[in-house]
Amino acid sequence: MILDKFKLDGKIAVVTGANTGLGQGICIALAEAGATVVGVARRSCEETAAQIEKDRFFELRADLSDMNNAEYVIDETIKQFGRIDILVNNAGIIRRADVVDFTEQDWDDVMNLNLKMLFKLSQLAARQFIKQGAGGKIINIASMLSFQGGIRVASYTASKSGVKGLTMEMANELAKYNINVNAIAPGYMVTNNTEMLRKDEKRSAEILARIPAGRWGMPEDIGGACVFLASSASDYVNGFTLAVDGGWLGR
Ligand code: NAD
Repeated sequence: MILDKFKLDGKIAVVTGANTGLGQGICIALAEAGATVVGVARRSCEETAAQIEKDRFFELRADLSDMNNAEYVIDETIKQFGRIDILVNNAGIIRRADVVDFTEQDWDDVMNLNLKMLFKLSQLAARQFIKQGAGGKIINIASMLSFQGGIRVASYTASKSGVKGLTMEMANELAKYNINVNAIAPGYMVTNNTEMLRKDEKRSAEILARIPAGRWGMPEDIGGACVFLASSASDYVNGFTLAVDGGWLGR
């Protein structure tokens, strides 16, 4: 039955950036669909855990700006749960400055977390999926700036455009192992990431006026797309970046 294909019972999912925002929405959705979720974050995931059935959510503390922690995240998940079925690369940061003033630090910090760590975790998860021999799902969180240029966000745009390209590249190489690599490109969502934009009344009104759905997205808006891409309902979807944007891109 088609709805059975969306079920994630017995699956082990690793979600980065699980303490707040879209990562929190993703953890809740995957757990509601039946998965056991390992939520990775620098800070306490108390708020996320409180919204998920007990024994369905486990917190793993790690600073993902430190590249050495990629192995820790994957190894620790395998140590505790014996396997991994789903990886959601959600953790990400943004830095804003004019191109002419953009610092190397703001370039490196964003590229390291948003792109390099995403690749390292995907690579380690893919090795484990191949070892397990039962396929796997990798879901990367992209952005509208995987498709558009944006303004004052040079490293963010570079990283998220990279996420879209890398999603296709990894999908091409890994499809033969029944590993699906896809991405979700959220539109303008109400989280910490967009707090500065939403505080700027003029920018905020301009953005809202351009969203056909007539509202900013909420973390729970991402759940359906994520469950779909994490489940066997999407077994023949490879390398695609799915916009969840209230119509922004089509405008
Ligand atoms: P957010 O700032 O609320 O969440 C970012 C998450 O990343 C947090 O959980 C944070 O703890 C985690 N994180 C940051 N640095 C980390 C580090 N060094 N180690 C471990 N975790 C770290 O913002 P959000 O909007 O929920 O962002 C989630 C993802 O969605 C990001 O990749 C972001 O780029 C993307 N995104 C957001 C929007 C939006 O409108 N909010 C739009 C497009 C894409």
